[in-house]
Amino acid sequence: MTSRIKNTLTATLAGAGLAAALPAPAGASAAPEIPSPDVATPEPDGPYLPLTAPLDVGDGLGAARGHEGVDLFGPIGTELVAVSDGEVIETGSDGGRGNYVSIYSPSLGDTYNYFHMNEPALVATGEKVRAGQVVGHLGCTGSCYGAHLHFEVRDGRSPYAPVLDPLPLLDLLVPPPAEIATQAAESPSEAASPALP
Ligand SMILES: [Zn+2]
Repeated sequence: MTSRIKNTLTATLAGAGLAAALPAPAGASAAPEIPSPDVATPEPDGPYLPLTAPLDVGDGLGAARGHEGVDLFGPIGTELVAVSDGEVIETGSDGGRGNYVSIYSPSLGDTYNYFHMNEPALVATGEKVRAGQVVGHLGCTGSCYGAHLHFEVRDGRSPYAPVLDPLPLLDLLVPPPAEIATQAAESPSEAASPALP
């Protein structure tokens, strides 16, 4: 009886938020985050993934509906960051894209489109941005079926240049700097592990 109660208590504690201290689930891309105050971990300088949530990829290019980008899921409010140093070449809002921003990267030669942002872009057309700079927040504005970033890669300096498949690029990008990423580290979908019957 005693051990049964103890097991129940442990399960209750785990459900109350201690799950964050458990090992990451298999398949999680990030290594366990062990604070090491004595050793300064050098931050990679990009190019960065466009969002701070763990990478959760939905529909890609094509997807039987003429999809011109890839859908990256995350909690509403997740910070969206510039992939690399670049220039904001268009921002706006409409019924399809919702709140959107387009950023051209001279070094990579591509334009990155971010759709469905929670509020208008935090940067203005013509503004220069740095790699990792927050340019908006994930949302579900415009034509949207669930909170996500619709991310497009365009071959050239235009939001409407020929489309490129974002998936190979995503494999090359690194997570944004930790001081930004920590604000969106909680992932409800991964934290809730199904209980065995
Ligand atoms: Zn999409």
